[in-house]
Amino acid sequence: MTYDPNNIFAKILRGEIPCQKVYEDDHVLAFNDIAPQAPVHILVIPKGAYKTVEDFGLNAGAGEIKAFYMAVAKIVEEQALNLDGFRTISNSGINGGQEVPHYHLHILGGKKLGPMLAKAA
Ligand code: 5GP
Repeated sequence: MTYDPNNIFAKILRGEIPCQKVYEDDHVLAFNDIAPQAPVHILVIPKGAYKTVEDFGLNAGAGEIKAFYMAVAKIVEEQALNLDGFRTISNSGINGGQEVPHYHLHILGGKKLGPMLAKAA
């Protein structure tokens, strides 16, 4: 699967679609999720064209990877999520339920988030 330059996050990166920016540096952009699943729901994305976490891990440069996790840590501290805890999620591919094919990490917090996976009824 090749990277789709018309995915929604690529459009946000190009400024074609607005976002509520939370953080930005040379390698990383973070913004509020349009359909938040928790009081805090932030998406962190690399500016490079990576589809999934494994694409990012295998093909991004060390500087990009360092910047990505530094950004996550700064956001967590800025939002004071480290006090009560939070969750990060990265959905990948069909089984992971990934909707947007540009690598992103969800940061969720602001309440007790319950079990990691929804339990079958
Ligand atoms: P995924 O299912 O791919 O892990 O998550 C994609 C996320 O992107 C979803 O939580 C969805 O609400 C969010 N999203 C989709 N379109 C937009 C958009 O145009 N703007 C923002 N801020 N978030 C979006």
